[in-house]
Amino acid sequence: MEMEPFVFEHMGFLVGTRARDAEDDVVEEVNRFALRPLAEPEFAVFTLDLCHNQVDRHFSRFPDEELAKIDEMVPGRPLMERHDLRGSLPRGTFFRSRLHRADDRVSVRPDVYVLRTRENEDFIVNIEGGVYRETSIGFSFRTPECSVCKRDLRTCDHIPGRSYGDETCHFVMRDVLEVIEGSVVPSGSQGTGFVAQERTLPLGRALENARRSHHRPIELRPRIVLSDE
Ligand SMILES: [Zn+2]
Repeated sequence: MEMEPFVFEHMGFLVGTRARDAEDDVVEEVNRFALRPLAEPEFAVFTLDLCHNQVDRHFSRFPDEELAKIDEMVPGRPLMERHDLRGSLPRGTFFRSRLHRADDRVSVRPDVYVLRTRENEDFIVNIEGGVYRETSIGFSFRTPECSVCKRDLRTCDHIPGRSYGDETCHFVMRDVLEVIEGSVVPSGSQGTGFVAQERTLPLGRALENARRSHHRPIELRPRIVLSDE
């Protein structure tokens, strides 16, 4: 029996405006997505640290091969603004991505361009001024693999965050299907004001529901806020 995929949201942080060296052909790369050639003063570029391979506070983890997949899926996806209960506004487009390595931490770090239109002015100022400094990625994946028994977490009895012998159970997010969007959110936001509230469940309850019914898709919206490295 095939189970429904998880739709997930994962928090990261804004790295800032990428310092560009002389041979960075950012204009050329942005223009692969624009319908008319843009000049550099027409857009702002930001770098986001979207997701990584460490166990996070919600006891989930991406394996490196799924990060490589996400890295390839991100260019062309929209950057959204999550600012109030009315939802998200598209503000930019991811135009390239790379895998960033720091010791054993691997993360997906895409660059996004935002047009310097009057409408986007406040959005850009809020990022540059550090008000919007957290990010989230919306994506779906098929299999939450239990780190203890390697089975689908919905079919075993292990609880993420609980210790079994020397091991703390977490789940490995496998078979990423789609990257839906990346978002920028105000710092310190707890998420409930920004996402569809009726579908936001704490992990324990979401898992309980998923175990009860394998047919219904479930949506987890953990909020993971990382400080700068
Ligand atoms: Zn298990």
